[in-house]
Amino acid sequence: MILPGATLGMLGGGQLGRMFTTAAQIMGYNVIVLDPDTNSPAGVIADQHICAKYTDEAALSQLAEQCDAITTEFENIPAATLAFLEAKTIVHPSSQALSSTQNRITEKQFIAALGIPVAPFVAIRSTSDIDNIGTSIQFPAIIKVANFGYDGKGQVVCHTIDDVYTAFRNLDQVECVLEQRINLEREVSTVLARSQTGEINNFPVAENVHVNGILHTTTVPSIISDQQVQTAIQMADKIADALGYVGVMAVEFFASKEGDLLVNEIAPRPHNSGHFTLDACPTSQFEQQVRMLCGLPSGNCELSSAVVMVNLLGDVWGDSQPNWDTLLARPENHLHLYGKKEARPGRKMGHYNVLAATTAQANDIALQTFEALQAS
Ligand code: ATP
Ligand code: MG
Repeated sequence: MILPGATLGMLGGGQLGRMFTTAAQIMGYNVIVLDPDTNSPAGVIADQHICAKYTDEAALSQLAEQCDAITTEFENIPAATLAFLEAKTIVHPSSQALSSTQNRITEKQFIAALGIPVAPFVAIRSTSDIDNIGTSIQFPAIIKVANFGYDGKGQVVCHTIDDVYTAFRNLDQVECVLEQRINLEREVSTVLARSQTGEINNFPVAENVHVNGILHTTTVPSIISDQQVQTAIQMADKIADALGYVGVMAVEFFASKEGDLLVNEIAPRPHNSGHFTLDACPTSQFEQQVRMLCGLPSGNCELSSAVVMVNLLGDVWGDSQPNWDTLLARPENHLHLYGKKEARPGRKMGHYNVLAATTAQANDIALQTFEALQAS
């Protein structure tokens, strides 16, 4: 066990790294963040910020020397970076687990090979792959870049095969996946923590609403059936076991109108849809990340209250600060801001959790608050 007083390394300085840093510091750990941005949300609150690229071997060596264990908040850290660090100190998740989730094609193949359903898909690496699609995919479909996509970026909806050729060209013919668009009843996700000895603890399954491909709200408990909850947890745990995963990870699911549950994707880190755990569970996903990294026992992942989480994107700012007074006037609301100076449209600036006796009540307060935030 790595005990308080030790130093933990975090690759990536975004909001997920910041909330990990806070959780670790509360528990008495020191945190060193490595991120190339001088002003990163996690870097500014860490005990130390190493401002360097993820490929800078001198900086990585320094991090490894100073840290008892290292983790990440960002799936696009080069797997070679983690492999380099693994040779020097404790690193979770492993470079191998991370690399299995970095490319949408290998990720989907890996999940499908476990017998877990995913949306019908084909890899598109050249226009001849488009020539050969045939009837394997029904339209509408979505073409997605295979690497480095997030928040719906690098995705285009296609209604015909001609749309696919056009979109592939507009995406500079980088490696892509074409995926059938699922008739969504709803979307859910689950965040889990898996220990070095393979013990898994799941947070409750959460229900997510996306707007323009970006998460807008998470509601817990979800109204999906108990049986679907069990199925989702079994699938997520099977994936974590197959990856030999150590740490916190999330699995996103599509629940189709036809009643199927399909895995959308894996996130090898805490997840935006797990932010409700900061206020609605005894142990947050970030404390779990600290616990798994340090080989501590799992915390308590049960739900203490019905909750709605609302994301605050830069769009809410407009020309001025949102009306924080109205949000803070309601004791049900819990505000989390990430310390980002510049509010750009689509940029995740913060979130708030609304705790109430029922999800219906939490949702009413969440909506009223959201409207009041933007009223000028
Ligand atoms: P993030 O990193 O924020 O999860 P991402 O860029 O990896 O986003 P996806 O999870 O692939 O994006 O897609 C974002 C959202 O777009 C999904 O949550 C869903 O609402 C919608 N979407 C994506 N693929 C499909 C699909 N095949 N059928 C129906 N809806 C889809
Ligand atoms: Mg997603």
